[in-house]
Amino acid sequence: MKKVVVVGAGLGGLVTAALLAKRGNQVIVMERSPILGGRSHVISKNGFTMSYGAHAVLAPKQEMMQSIIRELELPMIYKKASLSKFKLFKDGKVISSPLGFGALTSPAVSGFFNHILCLKQFYQMVKQASDFLPTMSVGQWIRENIHNPEIAKVLTAYAALSVYDGALDWYSMNHFVELTAREYEKNEPLSYMGYDLLLNELQQVITNHGGSILYGKQVTDLIIEAGKVKGVVCGGEPYECDEVVLNAPPNALGKLLHDPDLADEFDGYLNQPAHYVYVYDLMLSKKMRGDISNLLDLDGGLYLNVYSLNNASSAPAGGQLINGLKFLSEQEQADDSHAEASQRAIEHLLHHVYPGWETYVVSKRIINRAMVNGIARRTNAKLLPLQSRSVKGLYLVGDSTEGRGALGMPCYDSAKKVADIISAT
Ligand SMILES: Cc1cc2nc3c(=O)[nH]c(=O)nc-3n(C[C@H](O)[C@H](O)[C@H](O)COP(=O)(O)OP(=O)(O)OC[C@H]3O[C@@H](n4cnc5c(N)ncnc54)[C@H](O)[C@@H]3O)c2cc1C
Repeated sequence: MKKVVVVGAGLGGLVTAALLAKRGNQVIVMERSPILGGRSHVISKNGFTMSYGAHAVLAPKQEMMQSIIRELELPMIYKKASLSKFKLFKDGKVISSPLGFGALTSPAVSGFFNHILCLKQFYQMVKQASDFLPTMSVGQWIRENIHNPEIAKVLTAYAALSVYDGALDWYSMNHFVELTAREYEKNEPLSYMGYDLLLNELQQVITNHGGSILYGKQVTDLIIEAGKVKGVVCGGEPYECDEVVLNAPPNALGKLLHDPDLADEFDGYLNQPAHYVYVYDLMLSKKMRGDISNLLDLDGGLYLNVYSLNNASSAPAGGQLINGLKFLSEQEQADDSHAEASQRAIEHLLHHVYPGWETYVVSKRIINRAMVNGIARRTNAKLLPLQSRSVKGLYLVGDSTEGRGALGMPCYDSAKKVADIISAT
């Protein structure tokens, strides 16, 4: 049995802690904030449950993901991703996507031949073997391969929806294909599980196996002796342990690495630029529509996810939870001056799709700049290694660590690999 301190209660830290606790180790999670989940934390208000970040566990049948679900006995709900409920918004109208039921008739593309071409190019895009140059981004691939502007718009919209952030010039084609091909080639369902439930399950596994989660505990330093980690410092107090797992994302990690060898080792990974989107969430007391799960504005860079359709327990019976996103240009990301215009743009879309929505607002939540670094997998992102080379017993997990895949997948991936390395040593 080892004594392990996990710094950070994000997805990466919690999954690592749950696996290690279940395997009989003594685990302490130290979280600087008063809540669980980090960028996937959950807010509950007026009977609605809303995830700040992750909504779905993607690629749940992937071997690594399956083994985590099995080992931790997580009660997942599987749903097929339905392209027929993915709609587009164009010229003030909701229209079907030519990738779903509207395969041959959608007004998003004109002409029979172009519909066939659109489907062909869609399958070419999501099913190609993922052996692109690492520098090939999704945006660049679409520009170089799709010459019909209508089809390019539809495929861009689909890709933006799949990677959740519109940062297509930063998202590598290899990661994109890996994520989406599974859904089509391997007929893999999305997996839904309210993140409130997931966080709760992980917490239960940790505490039921003798572990503890300490809140309001910001780790400020590592204790290192003769090239081996011996513990962490928090609130001026030392906490001794055999191994330390860091879940802090690169920007927070920088503040922790005072040892010159470590600072040197990780220099190239720290201070990666952040990427932001505008998030506008609405809780409605009335179910406004049931025929849309996701709506993408073809021209406006806007996206509505009808969260309660995918995750029924997120809204009380008869209510609806809508998660709106606006993709921001680099200039808009720099400060909050876009905020008013972004809000107006999403509300403009709402007026068309859900006339009278204002009458039913129970509550709303706006985040001018939600950090989506975990989603925007920059083509040349320097992903943190799983383990320090210069300090023994020091590990790194989370979405900026090693692990191909997308969205929260690197959190699960790195957690499993680090738990396996610690269990084997
Ligand atoms: C709008 C949005 C939608 C998303 N949708 C999806 C989705 O549908 N599916 C999906 O899989 N993923 C999705 N994601 C991505 C997913 O949420 C992230 O990949 C994941 O939450 C990142 O987790 P992490 O463990 O790497 O880091 P974090 O969540 O950042 O966790 C790090 C934790 O460490 C703590 N910490 C940092 N420094 C210290 C310190 N010194 N001492 C103590 N604690 C510290 C922080 O407070 C934090 O709790 C979405 C993200 C966003 C923002």
